[in-house]
Amino acid sequence: GKITIAIDGYSSTGKSTLAKQLAKSLGYIYVDTGAMYRAVTLFALRKKYINEKGTDEDALITSLPQIRLQFKFNDDLGYAEMYLNGENVEQEIRKLEVSRYVSKISVVEAVRDKLVAMQREMGKEKGLVMDGRDIGTVVFPDAELKIFMTASADARAARRYKELLDKGEEITYADVLKNVRERDHIDSNRKHSPLRKGDDAIELDNTDMGLQEQFERILNFAKR
Ligand code: C5P
Repeated sequence: GKITIAIDGYSSTGKSTLAKQLAKSLGYIYVDTGAMYRAVTLFALRKKYINEKGTDEDALITSLPQIRLQFKFNDDLGYAEMYLNGENVEQEIRKLEVSRYVSKISVVEAVRDKLVAMQREMGKEKGLVMDGRDIGTVVFPDAELKIFMTASADARAARRYKELLDKGEEITYADVLKNVRERDHIDSNRKHSPLRKGDDAIELDNTDMGLQEQFERILNFAKR
């Protein structure tokens, strides 16, 4: 029968690429929870609830009910795009500006509570691949298959740098490496639902592993 697959791990380990491919081949739904935290971050940046000096948590928490998030499947792309209050924000949430602030928004417990509730709602139906930081540990502790992805910081930053360059962002490799390291640090050390490998998760280090090999390994586990 259909199962729930939780994919967690460090920033830019290729979770979403793998999750999308798995979902496609299994006929499952794919949910990118990072996109949800990114959309809330974009909202907070636009409202000026966060900047380099800090976060206005009270203002953010008060306005949480005004944040409406939706995933809409794009047939041409073959995956769902993120909508914030009716606006397609898929491109904007991937920018380095959002990456710089997202981990600071993700420490806010009320933000996590809202998004985790939405994620559990989406998971009521089996046949789901969800990726993030706390999917196997917090969102779906009963998921049948849990993967924890790692890779060296250099390998991750190099991949992310290439992606952002391809999208025309003007950034340096050093900026990207710094961001990857900072996010991992904040994500791993926060009070609520820190990023960690659960005892029951299968670790996949893909520093030197191609997509096809990762895919085949996980597919084998999924079919057991
Ligand atoms: O997966 P992605 O890199 O897009 O996630 C962006 C950020 O969102 C992470 O660095 C983390 O701070 C936050 N996040 C989270 N919990 C999740 C998914 C993402 O805290 N389940």
